[in-house]
Amino acid sequence: MWRVSDHMTNKAPLFNRLALIGVGLIGSSIARAARTQGLVRSIVATARSPQTRQRVAELGLADQVVETNAAAVDGADLVIVCIPVGVCGDVAREIGPHLMAGATVSDVGSVKGSIVRDMAPHLPANVHFVPAHPVAGTEYSGPDAGFAELFVNRWCILTPPPNADLEAVERLATFWRTLGANVETMAADHHDLVLAVTSHLPHLIAYTIVGTADELSQVTRSEVLQFSAGGFRDFTRIAASDPTMWRDVFLANKDAVLEMLGRFNEDIATLTRAIRRGDGETLFEHFTRTRAIRRGIVAIGQDSPAPDFGRPHPDLPHTPLPRPYSSEAE
Ligand code: NAP
Repeated sequence: MWRVSDHMTNKAPLFNRLALIGVGLIGSSIARAARTQGLVRSIVATARSPQTRQRVAELGLADQVVETNAAAVDGADLVIVCIPVGVCGDVAREIGPHLMAGATVSDVGSVKGSIVRDMAPHLPANVHFVPAHPVAGTEYSGPDAGFAELFVNRWCILTPPPNADLEAVERLATFWRTLGANVETMAADHHDLVLAVTSHLPHLIAYTIVGTADELSQVTRSEVLQFSAGGFRDFTRIAASDPTMWRDVFLANKDAVLEMLGRFNEDIATLTRAIRRGDGETLFEHFTRTRAIRRGIVAIGQDSPAPDFGRPHPDLPHTPLPRPYSSEAE
């Protein structure tokens, strides 16, 4: 019988064969980190398009690259589905009959309630289904975008169903801890509420504000680009996130996002009123509270205190930037 201590003491791989379905930012980061850490004996990978499969092979991210999802899970004792949330149910239906008895099936989707609803019915009773969400990412996609350190000091939230096999959950938790993540376990619906406010709503706000700036008629597009360091630039980074992934997130986590959006609109109304009435005290109190939250995030090591959020841009020229457009007509 396997014990976590076996891996800790003799560094035996935790899993024999890891199947990755989808090898974009998250899947390729798992491949890189799992290999660096010696967590699995072999990796088999697949992606939807021949182009991505070819790139995965060129990058040497897996021992084997196969054409179908069914072929990928053949003989795998750990299967991680790393694809957009909206297609996880279809893929579960596809792989269900081909899964090895005793295998652990997991995912990395940013929404968990819909994943459980869409995937669980297609999985046989003799596999362990342990959904997961590594709360780590960038605005880039595809197999070239991943890196082995992506999960270091980030959280990975596991949402095992109430009847889950505890040993399987612990083994997957060890897998994620060895990739560098801190592991937390919670119910799928609670995960969706927490992430609605910490991730989904901020993305929606970023998508909105960048769109709003783009549609302004009194302020030119060149001015928006030129003076973007005044707060806008950080929104543009978030708003560059993958459109397919985020469309699926909002469709899949509709109820929790609408709940948080309702609260957000109430708070925006309060600040709007304070500005209209010249109520500086309300604004000052609010900004003081939010500054404390930012300092708390830095204090627990979830971000850097450095200007630029610890993401310097060494590739930027040090000479003054040229104007983005010489005229708005260009
Ligand atoms: P990504 O870079 O766009 O990669 C997605 C991968 O899924 C690609 O390899 C794609 O193949 C493949 N794929 C799509 N549909 C498929 C299908 N039906 N069958 C097989 N493969 C399919 O996406 P990502 O950023 O890694 O995100 C993947 C998952 O991680 C999403 O569920 C997302 O919610 C979650 N997540 C993302 C982040 C983040 O910041 N990006 C953070 C945490 C969790 P092709 O290239 O051939 O289309």
